[in-house]
Amino acid sequence: MHHMTLAEIARGLADKKFSSVELTQTLLARIAQLDPQINSFISLTQDLALSQAKAADERRANGESGALLGAPIAHKDLFCTQDIRTSCGSKMLDNFKAPYDATVVAKLAAAGAVTLGKTNMDEFAMGSANESSWYGAVKNPWNLEHVPGGSSGGSAAAVAARLLPAATATDTGGSIRQPAAFTNLTGLKPTYGRVSRWGMIAYASSLDQGGPLARTAEDCAILLQGMAGFDPNDSTSIDEPVPDYSAGLNGSLQGLRIGVPKEYFSAGLDPRIAELIHNSIKELEKLGAVIKEISLPNMQHAIPAYYVIAPAEASSNLSRFDGVRFGYRCENPENLEDLYKRSRGEGFGSEVQRRIMVGAYALSAGYYDAYYLKAQKIRRLVKNDFMSAFNEVDIILGPTTPNPAWKLGAKSSDPVAAYLEDVYTITANLAGLPGLSMPAGFVDGLPVGVQLLAPYFQEGRLLNVAHQYQLNTDWHTRTPTGF
Ligand code: GLN
Repeated sequence: MHHMTLAEIARGLADKKFSSVELTQTLLARIAQLDPQINSFISLTQDLALSQAKAADERRANGESGALLGAPIAHKDLFCTQDIRTSCGSKMLDNFKAPYDATVVAKLAAAGAVTLGKTNMDEFAMGSANESSWYGAVKNPWNLEHVPGGSSGGSAAAVAARLLPAATATDTGGSIRQPAAFTNLTGLKPTYGRVSRWGMIAYASSLDQGGPLARTAEDCAILLQGMAGFDPNDSTSIDEPVPDYSAGLNGSLQGLRIGVPKEYFSAGLDPRIAELIHNSIKELEKLGAVIKEISLPNMQHAIPAYYVIAPAEASSNLSRFDGVRFGYRCENPENLEDLYKRSRGEGFGSEVQRRIMVGAYALSAGYYDAYYLKAQKIRRLVKNDFMSAFNEVDIILGPTTPNPAWKLGAKSSDPVAAYLEDVYTITANLAGLPGLSMPAGFVDGLPVGVQLLAPYFQEGRLLNVAHQYQLNTDWHTRTPTGF
């Protein structure tokens, strides 16, 4: 049962081949058996899952239907879940039980999805390797000595290991697409404003966006359908109608204009990945797509701009964790200042502290113009590059990452080396554009992803292209040995 995709599960439940309770019990047993190898969950919610599954079976018996009714999923542990620990991968929030459900959690529950648990993640979503979690590193099911990517590494590893068919995730600079690439999944970062951020613990508010991680584009369409839509509780949510993503999967690619930026194929890219990307281009050409070389001249400035803006916003967002209102509080503080200092010093890990310091520095008087303002100007140039590219092409294609998943620990003492791995993903966040990563082959037994970017609100186009590609390739069907 554990090999089924969300689409297959929906058909099986509709045809009464099995019940949601049976499926949920099977997957919970599989998680108990296999998760100790990969550490993809922070919390399991067995009781909630079984009661949600039972309720879904009853709704079906009463004539209701729906692709998510009775479907097992899990949430990245930064989506608030009422009365359930929401840790953000941090000691700071180890004792935090959210008083309400995030909009995404509430919407998926209303659609009948069954929550199996909360997945592991880099602390406060800062990272690309899932090694900064207070609950320990997550391992890549394709090779347990390698990282699964981050920060949504728990969601990715769990889905890749067939512990469940799909999970929610978030992407501030690549945290859906990069772990998707590293674990042979399909992951979609929607347009900024497409999915509500209400109840999603903020890292960098102008960049954060929730989205689906699954094995196929077809499943991403199903999960995104349940997540997307206007939310009056999120002032950056956009009131645009949500199309029927599943209905849009079968459009023809005849005449689709694909732009391939020349800057993507620079010296930093592993040549074996470049070759796989060219193979995927050929595959799409066979389906009728037309390829055009384009240029994104400001791409080289994106990493420095992102690593000013994201820490600046983080330093402000994380100021609420002060040991007073919620979360960790140090023992026996001497006075208020000692309480703040030690609660934050003991509650946050080193990467989070580094980012808070960088952000506070960049925002401080005298440095604001030199760093933050400059970074915002670069952000606009990056967006303008995309806007002119999309005058000529319908989607942009390239690698998701310059290298495959690295070994655990290989970059943990050199943060900048890890930051450089985000080169292909962060531009979409700076511009607010939707992006998708899908499986494109293997290098040394490790999965490689191809990234597609589209104009605002064209998630449907990305899913359509990815689905047509997946009907004609089988990379996404490969399973890691032992899972
Ligand atoms: N690796 C990037 C960072 O560390 C992106 C993380 C994310 O998307 N949450 O900031």
